[in-house]
Amino acid sequence: MDLTGLSADGTARNYVAGEWRAASGAEHDVTDPATGERLAGVGYATPEDVDEAVGAARTAFESWRETPVEERIQPLFRLKSLLEEHQDDIARVLVREHGKTLGEARGELRRGIENVETACGIPSMMQAGSLPNAAPDIDETAVRHPLGVFAAVTPFNFPGMIPLWFLPYAVATGNAFVLKPSERDPLTAQYLLELADEAGFPPGVVSLVNGGPDTVSALVEHDDVEGLSFVGSTPVARTLYEQAAAAGKRVQAQGGAKNHVIVAESADVGFAAEQTVSSALACSGERCLANDVALVAEPVYEAFREAALDRVESQVLGSGLDEGTTIGPLITPEHEERVRGMVATGVEEGADLIHDGRDWEVGEYPDGNFLGPCLFENAEPGMAIVDEEIFGPVLSLVRVADVAEGIEVMNESRFGNAASLFTDSGRDARRFKQDAEAGNLAVNAGTAAPMAFFHFGGAKDSFFGDLHAQGDDAVRFYTDEKVAIERWDY
Ligand code: NAD
Repeated sequence: MDLTGLSADGTARNYVAGEWRAASGAEHDVTDPATGERLAGVGYATPEDVDEAVGAARTAFESWRETPVEERIQPLFRLKSLLEEHQDDIARVLVREHGKTLGEARGELRRGIENVETACGIPSMMQAGSLPNAAPDIDETAVRHPLGVFAAVTPFNFPGMIPLWFLPYAVATGNAFVLKPSERDPLTAQYLLELADEAGFPPGVVSLVNGGPDTVSALVEHDDVEGLSFVGSTPVARTLYEQAAAAGKRVQAQGGAKNHVIVAESADVGFAAEQTVSSALACSGERCLANDVALVAEPVYEAFREAALDRVESQVLGSGLDEGTTIGPLITPEHEERVRGMVATGVEEGADLIHDGRDWEVGEYPDGNFLGPCLFENAEPGMAIVDEEIFGPVLSLVRVADVAEGIEVMNESRFGNAASLFTDSGRDARRFKQDAEAGNLAVNAGTAAPMAFFHFGGAKDSFFGDLHAQGDDAVRFYTDEKVAIERWDY
């Protein structure tokens, strides 16, 4: 890999005080999930490395907070252009270390760039409001101000987009920002930080530390980290939320998911099946927005089943770099084993596996972590494939009488990340938007992914905190509000 952030021997490094520095901790491998080939090493930051990064960020914050907002957003405009210029190259790095298809990688980066664009509007978004004559001879003004150093800990599945849910808003509002990307695919973050370096943020305003759980603990325990954004699995999200909150820090922690699609009797069944299969299988099912349980109204069940089966059979398994591939490899051999285990459990628990992708092979890539698409029917709540996050290319069909029963079944889930409804009825849609206990909702769309200028929702065991990523919530998360009352006529 040809990246500046890599040392001469190919090890991903930390970016601290505007410089690339080797981490002091142990080195681990970064592996191509399609070939099993070692791509690079990644050095883990020790608590001392973290302390250096946070210290430099804290120093940078002192002058950055007073830098006029119009100047603060200039590096973001440059970053947007650089990301667009390098989008294809970043996408290739992303595919090599993650496995998703090139089209998916490009799409993910586009969603990340959208956040940079949105944060360029901080001069308007950060205004809080004022009211003359709020009381006799009193004018009242709310003022938003930055807090200090914020950290973000991000997952493996969107290594390009998710860091950009946080970095642009944190720095545009006047904070300093430290990223700890997933240790499984840290090279995309190296690339992003190289471009941030070129975009011209003052040293220390943006930083990168690599590592695993110990590096995260050092960040969460650091007195000078004011707040934490986390995205990853539910047990870690819950624990970090509790730890950070107990330490008096701001925290937003997005967790795992189990998402549902409800197919109403009035739905366009072919369209619903196409969207549902794509939602469940894109990125090999490694998406927190994957709708992998379809609650299908009895009158359209058979038609939906046939259409879904057709779509599942036409998938193409292979390397994300190969043209025509629709499903790439899973992230690690351990994760592949886990997903295969979930499929076996589904069979044992009595669901009917009507399409079994477990035998699919990709001859050219014998060492890849591949699993073909699997389709279950007659699945029911209480089965692991319906209740637990799988994070693999597995879709389960559940029969329900109607939309009302679909909503009821869906709301029994402990997760609340996303849900979709396919219908031709405004009444169904209204009921769904009101009653669904999930944070991101879609009507007649397979994947409920909000644009950057809306917040990215999440509820129940899928989100811990109050203010979400993206949009206005991000501005409020990264700022504190003071209210000033003033009297000058006395
Ligand atoms: P993960 O929880 O294993 O890791 C996420 C991050 O936490 C990584 O940076 C990792 O180094 C760190 N980490 C892991 N274990 C830790 C520990 N014990 N203590 C401290 N830090 C730790 O998650 P993952 O496998 O990288 O990502 C997949 C998960 O993320 C899925 O559950 C998926 O649903 C979820 N996810 C959620 C959203 C959302 O918006 N809700 C978005 C993307 C992914």
